[in-house]
Amino acid sequence: MFEAEPPTVKQLALTGSLPTDTAIGQTLTDVHLRYSDLDDGEVADYIPILAEADPAWFGLSLVEATGDVHEAGDSAIGFSIQSISKAFVFALVCHARSHEYVHERIGVNNTGLAYNSVMAIELNHGSPMNSMVNAGAIATTALIPGQTPAEKWENIRTGLSQFAGRQLELDGRVYHSESTTNQRNKALARLLESYGRIITDPLDTVDIYTRQCSLTVTARDLAIMGATLADGGVNPLTKQRVVSAEVARDTLALLASCGMYENSGEWLFEIGLPAKSGVSGGIVAIAPGKGALGTFSPRLDTAGNSVRGQRACFHVSRALGMNLFASTPAR
Ligand code: GLU
Repeated sequence: MFEAEPPTVKQLALTGSLPTDTAIGQTLTDVHLRYSDLDDGEVADYIPILAEADPAWFGLSLVEATGDVHEAGDSAIGFSIQSISKAFVFALVCHARSHEYVHERIGVNNTGLAYNSVMAIELNHGSPMNSMVNAGAIATTALIPGQTPAEKWENIRTGLSQFAGRQLELDGRVYHSESTTNQRNKALARLLESYGRIITDPLDTVDIYTRQCSLTVTARDLAIMGATLADGGVNPLTKQRVVSAEVARDTLALLASCGMYENSGEWLFEIGLPAKSGVSGGIVAIAPGKGALGTFSPRLDTAGNSVRGQRACFHVSRALGMNLFASTPAR
């Protein structure tokens, strides 16, 4: 429907800048204090090991596109990345394939239904719809380069580690817990197979997907990974280019419409940032050109988004002027 890159349009990034380091540090400390006692929501337990998380954990980190790192609370506690991996695997697939390929094969529209919905596939004639719901994420994992499942897994781990700027490790206990309880994901993959919408063996692909969800990260890692997308695809700490600026842009566009489960519209209305969350309690919210906020707190609302994390993002986005849609008159 659209030309790939209209030749006469120069792509400018007009994204402003964050306030001073002191203001950022103070904001994170204030927000951490303000929401530490909030204990609404429940820790996820459909993957049995997630129920072991301490509901009191609460960590924040903001990494600027300049590479400056700010932290408050439990920003160094490790947890499984879960669905947040979908955002970065999507970016790796876009980098390896193309904008058009992913658009056609997977799709970029919100389902309006739960992340593990079977109905969403049925209602859309077998389309996985987008890479942020489980069906679309599994179909996207299938597109990662590699001749064997082992090679594909290694490419995912290497790519996500480059986003984080350090080697990410698989949590074997999380992987085992999810592998023995992920019948629904296997069913989604088989359903996609029946529609001819998955290009590799469905169960091998679910296994790779389960591994990617079991990588351990911290709130600080999430902020660095997000800051790489905010910095045109270059990790602001290691200075390594992980994906192209176009892929970083496309990933943020998808996160804006599909990153926060079926509450993505409400999230964008309130917070105004592309973001992705996961059922272990992490959120990464990205301000293009400025930086990214990583939050971790395991209590979730009914859509699967961390309760404290959402409040923290709302507050930080307002306090530091990160909302993408906010402007003031030029004169
Ligand atoms: N591994 C989880 C699943 O497939 C990820 C869900 C999520 O974080 O939303 O159910």
